[in-house]
Amino acid sequence: PVVLGIETSCDETGVGIVADGVLLGDALATSMDEHARFGGVVPEIAARAHLHAVTPMVRHALDRAGIGFGDIDAVAATAGPGLATAVQVGLAAGKAYALALGVPLYGVHHLAGHAAVDTLEHGPLPDRCVALIVSGGHTSLLLLGDLARDPVIHLGDTADDAAGEAFDKVARLLGLPYPGGPAIDRIAQDGNPDAITFPRPMTSPHDPPYQFSFSGLKTAVARWIEKHGDQPVPVADVAASFQEAVADTLTQKAMAACRDHHADTLLLVGGVAANSRVRHLAEQRAANAGVRLRVPSPRLCTDNGAMIAAVGDLLVRANVAPDRLDLSADPSAVLRGALLKDHSV
Ligand code: ATP
Ligand code: MG
Ligand code: FE
Repeated sequence: PVVLGIETSCDETGVGIVADGVLLGDALATSMDEHARFGGVVPEIAARAHLHAVTPMVRHALDRAGIGFGDIDAVAATAGPGLATAVQVGLAAGKAYALALGVPLYGVHHLAGHAAVDTLEHGPLPDRCVALIVSGGHTSLLLLGDLARDPVIHLGDTADDAAGEAFDKVARLLGLPYPGGPAIDRIAQDGNPDAITFPRPMTSPHDPPYQFSFSGLKTAVARWIEKHGDQPVPVADVAASFQEAVADTLTQKAMAACRDHHADTLLLVGGVAANSRVRHLAEQRAANAGVRLRVPSPRLCTDNGAMIAAVGDLLVRANVAPDRLDLSADPSAVLRGALLKDHSV
């Protein structure tokens, strides 16, 4: 089946076209620059940008795939979680295309997209694996079965800030531009990761093993900067040391989950999986433990349309019943499965 996927949960307007596990074409627009002077995404600006970009991006993706509207067999759109007004633009567009083309609509969970996108580069997922989803709004360790059919099991999530949120907030403390993750990644190349020992949150033996917490780490960075306020901040060293603390914490817990749950595959996905140090440390630790690491190319780690088309493609091929066109968006939906709304409950 040829599936059109639409993603508008945050500040990226992404459209992808996937057929039987193959990415035929995609297109991406971002309103990132319009948010930079506010230091974070402004929902109203993001929603308006989606409204302008969604139709042209669908056109682009079709052109790149070399197909027309008549070739589309199903439409998938992010139905949550995300910024309410932003999600609604893409979902409404998805409904309109589905209705106009007379094809089924799937309202998919954004985080399922982060996981499913890996199949476009590395083939079908194994029957079960541990997944670490690390993004701007989420940090979750999961047990995945068949992504299209099985419920997702949460081993642990973050008690406060997401890993990506911590990158963005620490970048702000360091006077680095939005979005902070890529900026920290870049400047950390020139820093010493051992310069400062920041805490590895929730890693002591009496802590819940798969639970995360990043707001204390952000505060530790803020305190360190305050304490050394009389000298110029060694930005590269602070960035590298902070990044090391995050990478160490994430990979320690992911490897523990693989070991405890006898999983031979670790799926590392979401925007923070684009981080060079997180990727490198995960590779090393997975290799040492004999675990197969699957991580998408950096451009597919951050939000895009291909990830949503990938979920739709899995759902169609698994014969999962589509959604009704009166499906409503849920800005804070917890990840239970590929569809935002599980029809079996
Ligand atoms: P969610 O998926 O939880 O709804 P989101 O869609 O906004 O959140 P993503 O697009 O998956 O998040 O990822 C964006 C986040 O990833 C931002 O916090 C950004 O700073 C972070 N990020 C992107 N690239 C990197 C990088 N190279 N290093 C660290 N963090 C990064
Ligand atoms: Mg974004
Ligand atoms: Fe995302």
